[in-house]
Amino acid sequence: MFDKVRRAVDGVVANIARESRAWKIQCVSCGRQRSLASVGGVRYGGFGTSYTLGTCSQCGGFRIMRIYKP
Ligand SMILES: [Zn+2]
Repeated sequence: MFDKVRRAVDGVVANIARESRAWKIQCVSCGRQRSLASVGGVRYGGFGTSYTLGTCSQCGGFRIMRIYKP
């Protein structure tokens, strides 16, 4: 029984990892973009574009970052 639960949890975790890799995060100031997963972000489900604040390593400041799915 625990085995079943563990397998189900593993499946969900794998889905989240796959979803997160599809999302991009882009600095609106300089246009630098990376995958959301590479900056440690996790996003699962949801649609459209959202914005967050983050530090951009290219233009070196606290910037508005756009999160979107190409
Ligand atoms: Zn930037």
